[in-house]
Amino acid sequence: MTPVQVAVRDGGTDRLWRAGRAVALTALSAVFAVLLLAPATGLAVLWGGLVPAIATSLFVTPVLWRGICPLATLNEAGNGIGHQATPSPRTQTILGVGGLLLFHVLVPARLLLFNQDGTAVVAAGLAIGTLAILLGARFAVRSAFCNALCPILPIERLYGQAPMVQVERGRCGACTVCTPRGCLDLAGTKNLAQIIGPSRRTHGWLLTPFGLFASALPGFILGYFMAPAGVGASAMQVYGSTLGGSVASVLVVQGIVRATSLATSGALLLLAAWSGATYFAFTGPAVARLWHLPTSTGVALGSLGVAFVVWWLVRARRTLHLSAAL
Ligand code: SF4
Repeated sequence: MTPVQVAVRDGGTDRLWRAGRAVALTALSAVFAVLLLAPATGLAVLWGGLVPAIATSLFVTPVLWRGICPLATLNEAGNGIGHQATPSPRTQTILGVGGLLLFHVLVPARLLLFNQDGTAVVAAGLAIGTLAILLGARFAVRSAFCNALCPILPIERLYGQAPMVQVERGRCGACTVCTPRGCLDLAGTKNLAQIIGPSRRTHGWLLTPFGLFASALPGFILGYFMAPAGVGASAMQVYGSTLGGSVASVLVVQGIVRATSLATSGALLLLAAWSGATYFAFTGPAVARLWHLPTSTGVALGSLGVAFVVWWLVRARRTLHLSAAL
């Protein structure tokens, strides 16, 4: 394929990205080792450190995580095996919807398994890593995994819609447009408009796969944190809580958007802020519990997270000149 868009970077910046990827891959291997040898510490590092840090970074800029993510590195490494095809729009859509569903399956599974079992986390991580390599071997560049099946992609899109800092993409120095519509690294903040399509000009966006995902997310997060967890919890209770929260959230968002005629861009900003604030409010105390810190520290961490999201929303409204739409 012929490169059609080249990111202009000096050698030093390229070396920095390569070093970042090497550090991230090494760190993931180290975390896997700790999860197997000292599971309690590994689980605290992962759920009480790395995951909240990654979520925070997505609001700052999704480019940083996408540039160093170890799964993306494995997806790219798969390109070295065999010949790759460009996925058809239908394949891309199917994989994309698969990623949204994977998110709704894997995240609640934390409450049943992954929050308590380090070996299960490593097994799931290796399985997803293998899938990323295989999809890289079958499909061009990162079209099938990073730009479609990755369960974190919809969060990258939603939280990364109004980056606080501008950073040139860290991969694909020469872009071959493996993903003509919706690549976050190529389209930047226009990626949401591209994947939602013309329905963003009407309330039709609410019923697109991404519209449903974004509308469901605040209730999904609330349902996750309200669900029973640990040994006594059943799958029915956990998935019932996240699914029930998601459905309620979709209905509330549909009602509000239709009643107020909120513009799509404004609604998506509010959904990101609502989801992020809910996530941080509950995650602060959860982090404190994992590290055996006082409850007050957890409340302070949660409050800081909520304040950070409010700051992000205020900046985003100003930057995108959406005050009128909101
Ligand atoms: S992943 Fe994105 S930036 Fe990289 S080649 Fe594909 S479309 Fe271009």
